[in-house]
Amino acid sequence: MQEAMSDRSPAAIKRRDVHTVSHSELVSLLEELGQPKFRAKQIEEWVWEKNVSNFDDMSNLPKALRATLSEHLTLGGVEEVARQLSNDGSRKYLLRFPDGVCVECVGMPSRNKLAVCASTQAGCAMGCAFCATGASGLTRSLTSGEIYEQVMHVRDDFNARVTSVVLMGQGEPFMNYDATLGALRKLNSPEGAGIGARHLTVSTCGVIPMIKRFANEPEQFTLAISLHSAVQKTRDMLMPGVKKYSLLRLYDMMGEYVDKTGRRPTYEYALIKGVNDTDAELAALCDFCKDNLAHVNIIQLNHVKGSKFLPSSDVRAQEFVRRLGNVGVEATIRNSRGSDIDAACGQLRQNVEAGLV
Ligand code: SF4
Repeated sequence: MQEAMSDRSPAAIKRRDVHTVSHSELVSLLEELGQPKFRAKQIEEWVWEKNVSNFDDMSNLPKALRATLSEHLTLGGVEEVARQLSNDGSRKYLLRFPDGVCVECVGMPSRNKLAVCASTQAGCAMGCAFCATGASGLTRSLTSGEIYEQVMHVRDDFNARVTSVVLMGQGEPFMNYDATLGALRKLNSPEGAGIGARHLTVSTCGVIPMIKRFANEPEQFTLAISLHSAVQKTRDMLMPGVKKYSLLRLYDMMGEYVDKTGRRPTYEYALIKGVNDTDAELAALCDFCKDNLAHVNIIQLNHVKGSKFLPSSDVRAQEFVRRLGNVGVEATIRNSRGSDIDAACGQLRQNVEAGLV
């Protein structure tokens, strides 16, 4: 993976998290330990496919090698700090990495499917006005292994295959591009989680240079844009982190993205009462999306305790879908999964810190 490529000497990877060690680095380490190359493949299977948390579980490796490996490497080791269970079957987890940094992720089962929403950063620097995570700033970006581990934690907890992943939890994925792409590739790989590229979605506020880069990646990953308003003034207020990327530039970039990839992007639109659910906002949204390849997800805002923003009405959400349909834009009201469990990102962490969970 990209962030693991800088230093290939075996000495430099001593006690490194194996999730950040590339295949060639692992082979070098094994050579130094007098082991055959095929051991690398065996180890990777235990790490990426079986998600073991102990070298002793790697039963097809000699016992002595398991002990030596644990002197050189760690297995990451994400720890569950708290969880909340929703009546609809969703489970929200607060996970802690070895350095004490915590992130949230969610597992959402439905019929034979299991969707995971994972975080790409601990905290977030984008400062969206309606978001609990944005309110406390960025702690640090996650490695690709840490993004991947969240998905595997959910898989193992449900004991079911993950059928789709959305990187829509804490953080702005495109402010952590290389790790995000590394995680997507591992989630997609048959030697990893084996999830189809079209079922792997990245959600961005609209970091234009990175949308351009993403459009040029060879895989068919899915892109979602958190739009939330097609009126510049409203969007600047709701999403100050992307103020420098105007709606006009975003519009042009998305045209380029569609031309380049032929794929239909999704626009996320969380309806906020009296802010972005007015007739003028609806007309601007229709203008932004019509004549373009677009799918609009209308979301009922999850109310964050203490926030001045309130969800709009169901009637209003239906009106948005109807009017978008009239100008030829497909729109759906997204089922707000886990609305009984602090579903908005950042809320579980805040409640744990406040001793409420
Ligand atoms: S909504 Fe997403 S991008 Fe905006 S502050 Fe929250 S985590 Fe960051």
